Amino acid sequence: MSKNVQIMINKPFWLTKSSLGFEQSRQFPQLDSKETVDICVVGGGLIGNFIAYWLSEMGISVVLLEKDLLASGSSGRNTGFILPGTVEHFNRSMTLHGKEKALAIWKFTERNFDQMLGIIKDESIDCDLQENGSLIVASSKQEDIELKESFVHLSASGIQVDLLTSSELEKKFKSDQFFGALKTKVGAGIQPVKLVNALSKILSSRNIKIYENSPVLDICEYESNSLQIVTEGGTVDCAMAVLATNAYTSQVISGFDDLIFPFQGQAFVTEPFPSSIFDEVVYANYGFEYWRQLRDGRLMIGGFREKDGQKGEGFSTEVNSELIHGLYDYFYQLFPKVERVPISHAWSGTMGFSKDGLPIVGNTKMPHCFVCGGFTGHGLGFASAIGELTAQVMVNGKGDASELFHISRFDGG
Ligand SMILES: Cc1cc2nc3c(=O)[nH]c(=O)nc-3n(C[C@H](O)[C@H](O)[C@H](O)COP(=O)(O)OP(=O)(O)OC[C@H]3O[C@@H](n4cnc5c(N)ncnc54)[C@H](O)[C@@H]3O)c2cc1C
Repeated sequence: MSKNVQIMINKPFWLTKSSLGFEQSRQFPQLDSKETVDICVVGGGLIGNFIAYWLSEMGISVVLLEKDLLASGSSGRNTGFILPGTVEHFNRSMTLHGKEKALAIWKFTERNFDQMLGIIKDESIDCDLQENGSLIVASSKQEDIELKESFVHLSASGIQVDLLTSSELEKKFKSDQFFGALKTKVGAGIQPVKLVNALSKILSSRNIKIYENSPVLDICEYESNSLQIVTEGGTVDCAMAVLATNAYTSQVISGFDDLIFPFQGQAFVTEPFPSSIFDEVVYANYGFEYWRQLRDGRLMIGGFREKDGQKGEGFSTEVNSELIHGLYDYFYQLFPKVERVPISHAWSGTMGFSKDGLPIVGNTKMPHCFVCGGFTGHGLGFASAIGELTAQVMVNGKGDASELFHISRFDGG
């Protein structure tokens, strides 16, 4: 039935005129000269922009180089959730990392949330912020048990969370498909490209030079304590560099194939739906599927990575229309009373999954070249705080909670 639903535009919605008011296009020149700065940031997504933001707060001179356009990577292709925690439910995070570390990671993401919203408000950034918390819904009895276990540990640690029963969810959504839910106070939806563009304007006003269409081709240890970053049109001489290239890190520097690997994610948005159904951003089926409703009523839905088998691995950003149609059907099966509206835009993006599901911050085999990546589908949940942490690690050798994400955890295998 959904095969009849036409996908109107194969383009990430956030980058289009319908969402931005203009088509995202080049805002900064290509590098065609030699620059000399303290630090070169490679990658013009959310993370590169936040790292540059925090470095500039410390008075460091920075050049930012982007291969294509700002936000042309995953930062312009996500669904815009700022969530607490990691890709795993909290009970699983405790099993994987131990309770103390799992809690420290959760608190780090809560700090990120406060920091991001603080910057958005202080800098008067219009990025369509919808600040209504998140709902993690259970798609099976087992998932409900795990969410209840997560609730017990989180609330005992003073984290603001609530449980919703299946009948409360049935009343809220007119759907009997959910077994329960964990509601977190922390959680919001944004238009991520508006945020990237606004950050880049702040950087420009601080005399940070940004270059687009300037792929980094090589990084040379130029002298004992400096680097030369090479692009086709020019070079940047710097004391340090940081790769904010997430999924693409292994294309820029060797040694990262097993640490950060590319994984494709699919998403779509519908035409505006006339009534309000979802306030919170919603994460379902262990986070494999997720949806939200935008201010204008559009329903934005992502996921089905698990239906893609091995094919999801790799750098392709081709839309998989079979998965998009499957996702559309999946959504309306969950909400049979919701009238179907056509898909307006569908797209895919390349996420950078790390070996252990946690971000990776630290130096590469070149001591002055750092990396910050591997967000495993949760980059917005870390963006500002991990940008600040990376700036601290580069400048001071360590930062608040740097042990949580330091690359040295992989030393020795
Ligand atoms: C469908 C989908 C839905 C998602 N939903 C969410 C969500 O709701 N919430 C959430 O937290 N996360 C979500 N994510 C993940 C999120 O988008 C990422 O974690 C986040 O954008 C990572 O930001 P980044 O800046 O590290 O990476 P990117 O945005 O990918 O930026 C890396 C940049 O590096 C540039 N680059 C690469 N190579 C070079 C080079 N040689 N020289 C110069 N530049 C280079 C790229 O062009 C790119 O712009 C989703 C992802 C997808 C695909």
